Amino acid sequence: MRQITSNVYVEDSFSTPPKLRRCTSGFVITSEGIVIIDSPYMPSDAVKLREDLSKIGEVRYLINTHHHIDHITGNYFLPGTIVSHVEAREMLTAPVPLVSIVAVELAEQATRINPRAGLVDCLRLRVSQLDPDGLQIPKDYQLRVPTITFSQRLTLYVGRHTFELLHLPGHTPGHIGVYIPEEKVFFAGDNFTTGVQPSLAHSSPLDWIESLKKIEAMDIDVLVPGHGVVCGKEGIREFILFLEKVVEMVREAIRQGMSKEEAAAKLTFLGFYPSLHPEPGTQRMSIIRIYEILTQNKPKG
Ligand SMILES: [Zn+2]
Repeated sequence: MRQITSNVYVEDSFSTPPKLRRCTSGFVITSEGIVIIDSPYMPSDAVKLREDLSKIGEVRYLINTHHHIDHITGNYFLPGTIVSHVEAREMLTAPVPLVSIVAVELAEQATRINPRAGLVDCLRLRVSQLDPDGLQIPKDYQLRVPTITFSQRLTLYVGRHTFELLHLPGHTPGHIGVYIPEEKVFFAGDNFTTGVQPSLAHSSPLDWIESLKKIEAMDIDVLVPGHGVVCGKEGIREFILFLEKVVEMVREAIRQGMSKEEAAAKLTFLGFYPSLHPEPGTQRMSIIRIYEILTQNKPKG
């Protein structure tokens, strides 16, 4: 882990080539224990973090920015009370289709092996693909889900640090950001990524643009993305422009009278910059998702 401010540490080498798909996770050392933001994806990385942190102090909280597996799989290996948005917990506990939690390609691969595959089967498969020589998902693995949830905002006071958890819908509807004013650090989760496009398959792009504008207005020195290297606020503008272009592309297809299947067959977001999910299935789902949201929001008449 790399120290980015007096008390904040981040591991962004997890999500830069060749490890692109792992999330950027981090932790804050307060005067009364440690707070982790998003758990490392691979079990080997999560166990190493647990061992390293045990030499520093007690882990008080583990905050999940959203429900996607690259941010929650490692929860099992780490201590601390887990906190998230209420919808993130619901996605992990309610019976929802696999494709609303994991990439469509992964869900297909897992159900090809076992037609009754669930979320843990997907995690097991993905870990074996991404880290074949590392620690695998154990037999008795269980999802460790958030036990404290909120809907709009929640403030945790830990030692001399404040953790402002803010509902910022975008990459997923139940997405949050974590602001630590004493360090002027903001953990954006996958609402903001550097160098790679996150999946748009579960997104609400119009809310996403609004959420990014709110982050842009905050007093932040260091922005921690969900994937990619830490930076300042300057990267947000470019990311907003990317989302605006994506929305405009789909809007234009609607204007031209394309059906959502036609739009999904014709459009791709891969021309902008590399994607975390370049597979055709996720690209298709992303276009359809945005198409559906834009047609719901279309003014009547
Ligand atoms: Zn992610």
